[in-house]
Amino acid sequence: MKYQGINLENVKLSNRSSILLLLNNHGAMSRKDIAKTVGLTAASVTQICSELMEEGVIVELGEAAEEKRAGRKKILVDINPEYRNVLCIAVESDTTYIAVTDMKGRVLCNDTLATDKNADPGRFFKKVTDVCLRLFKRHHIPGDKVLGAAVTLPGNVDRKKGVSLNTYSIWTEEIPVADLLQKELKLKVVVENNLKAYAQSEIYFGLGRTVNDLFLLKWGPGVGASIIIDGKIYQGSHKMAGEIGHITAVQDGRSCNCGRKGCLETYVSTRALEEDVKTALEKENGTKDPAKKDAIIRSVIDRKIDMLAYHLKNSITVLDPRNVVLIGYMFEKQDYMERFIAAYRKYDPLVGDDFFVKSDLAVNNDHTEGLAVFFNETFLAM
Ligand SMILES: [Zn+2]
Repeated sequence: MKYQGINLENVKLSNRSSILLLLNNHGAMSRKDIAKTVGLTAASVTQICSELMEEGVIVELGEAAEEKRAGRKKILVDINPEYRNVLCIAVESDTTYIAVTDMKGRVLCNDTLATDKNADPGRFFKKVTDVCLRLFKRHHIPGDKVLGAAVTLPGNVDRKKGVSLNTYSIWTEEIPVADLLQKELKLKVVVENNLKAYAQSEIYFGLGRTVNDLFLLKWGPGVGASIIIDGKIYQGSHKMAGEIGHITAVQDGRSCNCGRKGCLETYVSTRALEEDVKTALEKENGTKDPAKKDAIIRSVIDRKIDMLAYHLKNSITVLDPRNVVLIGYMFEKQDYMERFIAAYRKYDPLVGDDFFVKSDLAVNNDHTEGLAVFFNETFLAM
């Protein structure tokens, strides 16, 4: 594991970040062990820890049962889960998930509402803030306890301006998400692409704590990926890295929302899958024979699985990550996941058994990937 970020202009702040990152990845530690691991003097670790404790960011946890000599006791410190709360708002194509978490990702309360594609985005986000304010009230969460809100959604975002540029599958217009929410919530609002946020979660709370080079593949209503190189998300110069859904799969093929033709997503998204199954069944005049029907459905899905596996194989050949993390609705079905890995093996029989990993992050179900965005923003990018 690398502890980077020693910046000559702001050494003290990056030392704080290194300590917080270490505590996050390792759990409670003594000041002495922290000093040894991050390569700082005991005196400066003690000083930084005192400051962090005063701010309430970390807490002392009692004594470790070691270091018998001279009766000296080892006091451990750890990130204080109760330091503040984070409001996570995940806008997915069908449902919007809202959760308030502590600093360790524990969900304190949550709610959902339907993502209304036909509603004016301004009106939709007003509904979202109403749900958030109701949650705060019902669960007695004071406004000053909340560090901020992280909104994660598909498509392109301008993180600096807090604007969603195009969510493709939901709305296509620009939406000033941060402005819309700030007005009502009176909180700092960060807007991030949902896959990038998910990758950030994997870095801070999942496999990324021990593996530096990862490829995350999400297969659901949309198809996307996130590339983690050396513990950091690779964005690309147009912030478009990882857009595997827009790899050209068929020359001059189906029109895509991105303005191009033949993109992989137009063939393998769940919607494309449903439509292609329907068309295939219609071709058989809506056969009533269940065995025949199953065979048709299976063959359509296998074709999609094969197409995605083929393009993933080529991406992996170029990037050479340690692992591929499979996330999203389609991979939650064990049968699809196994068929996908089998299809991949046809293109790369040498792939190791531990290469594909199913993420065990709870954020997957609770959609609290926004926490990682705030975690980064507050603790580690300082
Ligand atoms: Zn496209």
